[in-house]
Amino acid sequence: MPELPEVETVRRGLAPAMEGARVDKVEVRHRGLRWPIAKDFEKRIEGKTVDGLGRRAKYLTADLSSGDVLVMHLGMSGSFRIGKDAKETKPGVYYHEKSKSTAHDHVVFHMSNGKTITFNDPRRFGSMKLVARAKIDDEPLLNALGPEPLGNEFDAAMLASACAGKKTSLKAALLDQRVVAGLGNIYVCEALFRAHLSPKRRASTIADRNGKPNERAEALVPAIKAVLEAAIKAGGSSLRDHRRTDGSLGDFQHTFLVYDREGEPCPAGCKGTVKRIVQAGRSTFYCPSCQK
Ligand SMILES: [Zn+2]
Repeated sequence: MPELPEVETVRRGLAPAMEGARVDKVEVRHRGLRWPIAKDFEKRIEGKTVDGLGRRAKYLTADLSSGDVLVMHLGMSGSFRIGKDAKETKPGVYYHEKSKSTAHDHVVFHMSNGKTITFNDPRRFGSMKLVARAKIDDEPLLNALGPEPLGNEFDAAMLASACAGKKTSLKAALLDQRVVAGLGNIYVCEALFRAHLSPKRRASTIADRNGKPNERAEALVPAIKAVLEAAIKAGGSSLRDHRRTDGSLGDFQHTFLVYDREGEPCPAGCKGTVKRIVQAGRSTFYCPSCQK
């Protein structure tokens, strides 16, 4: 599943092709995404200009001149391609391989600047939904989301108060989108490693009795921000060289210190070995020697 840095990289790649351009035509070839694409989808989009392309957690949000917001999610396997004059590029690089089959091209936007933007999604867990800007705060997809991890308001005090009293593991708490929005399995593992915190530790142990942050919360927040920023930077550098954005691996993989590195020596040099465990059905990679 694409994670926040990948979605942000996609946003940065799509923005120059979409922002300020009008959608002349939208072709919906398959309405059966995670939720069916609404019948009035084309009518509400065609002829409208994209005023801005934003991101909230792992959702892309295209502000349309009509006052609607097009909320898009890549799901498990979604990706975009930008085409012009029969040449296509892919914004963003992915750790997991993406389909190259055009049979899974479900939605195609024809922009007034001559570009086409194609949404491809073999597993069809992605989604596209129009929401009136005035009602965006009531939108169920978005209104339960916690703070943006890269936003200024996300700090140790906020994370500690969200985790205070939680009996779940720290890893499970960080994956909870109400605690912090947009973090997925890979970057939670990486952030916990950088902060030297065990993924098995109780979430409540990053706060004191009053719900105030202790030194663990103070270490964890900068680690989360740093790992996301490094990944976005790696994605951005791949983006500049389109020959490398083949949709498969890219630079993200090289930034992982523990994820998918079971059995390798601890990259912190502590003489420990990276271990894989399963928490809530998902793999966790960590170093039991230096993550406490
Ligand atoms: Zn270690």
